[in-house]
Amino acid sequence: MLVCMTLLATEPTSKAEDELTYIEDDGTPDLRSYDRFVCFFSTGKDSLASVLHLLDLGVPASKIELHHHNVDGDPDAGEGLMDWPVTLAYGQAVARHLGMEFVTSWREGGIEREMCRQDTRTAPVVFYKDGKRIEVGGVNGPLGTRRKFPQQSASLSTRWCSSAAKIDVGASYLRNDLKFRNQRTLVVTGERAEESSSRARYATFERHRTDSRHGKTARHIDHWRAVHGWSEAQVWAIIEKHRLEVHPAYRLGYGRVSCQFCIFGSKDQWATNRAIAPRAFSRIAAYEQDFGVTIHRKLAVGALADLGAPYPAATGFWLECAMSTTFDAPIVVESWKLPAGAFGESCGPT
Ligand code: SF4
Repeated sequence: MLVCMTLLATEPTSKAEDELTYIEDDGTPDLRSYDRFVCFFSTGKDSLASVLHLLDLGVPASKIELHHHNVDGDPDAGEGLMDWPVTLAYGQAVARHLGMEFVTSWREGGIEREMCRQDTRTAPVVFYKDGKRIEVGGVNGPLGTRRKFPQQSASLSTRWCSSAAKIDVGASYLRNDLKFRNQRTLVVTGERAEESSSRARYATFERHRTDSRHGKTARHIDHWRAVHGWSEAQVWAIIEKHRLEVHPAYRLGYGRVSCQFCIFGSKDQWATNRAIAPRAFSRIAAYEQDFGVTIHRKLAVGALADLGAPYPAATGFWLECAMSTTFDAPIVVESWKLPAGAFGESCGPT
């Protein structure tokens, strides 16, 4: 059975037929009605599963953009603070294999610059269009001071890394790249209800916050959380079906992938991070000391690491791969195996 989207949205029902989207019983929108698809791709398993699900539903790869936010800012600016060195190269390898466009955007200076703000503005968002650098914002915003890490919370103003380095960056991109005007775009993300009670309350399908279908730009943008109702087993199953290699961090034992030094890291993850990336770990610990505020409410990262134990799988080829800025493994794996991190600790944003 198809349900007219206007029954689910707040808009009056008198809009033209071409503004409507029809939703299947299982929550799948009418994918044929969109001109383009933007998959926000952290390179983690859930966003990968969302992309593969789109392909399985018949969306041509040529219409799908894999879009990755660099949480450490400009990848050419040198060593980052938070992310896995291999993430960008892995994302590019996935896009190349699937025949999709790979696009990146970032907050200038990444999480580190935002965290160190002292009487300064939040930096601009950067993306490239036709080889030209576009900068949005960073000029008129209020002066402000942070001088502390984002804190663990479901609230995006406290856990501001997700908004400053990802959500707001994506919104600026969608609002400012003219290719979204007079187009119907479906934004696809990989949040799952199973992950937390607050994620369980997210709508599976809704208008994206950047939608302005009735404005001058006629920018029609919907948001579909394509695997919202899926179990972790379903996520691994679709990746196995496509025989795709996963982000190397999963092979090391991490159950969730985005930033290597995620503020939600468990004691075992901090112990592993300290063992495999001691210099980067020291930079994080030094910031905690400098700010006089730890990431965890009570314990410094060193104390957390002391309580944990490094993942046994964090050695050898996959460790080398995770810590490299190139992705040197085959992206398609004939004898695919579940990674060590599958069904493990899933500590991450709530
Ligand atoms: S992965 Fe963790 S540290 Fe990185 S942006 Fe998300 S919540 Fe913040």
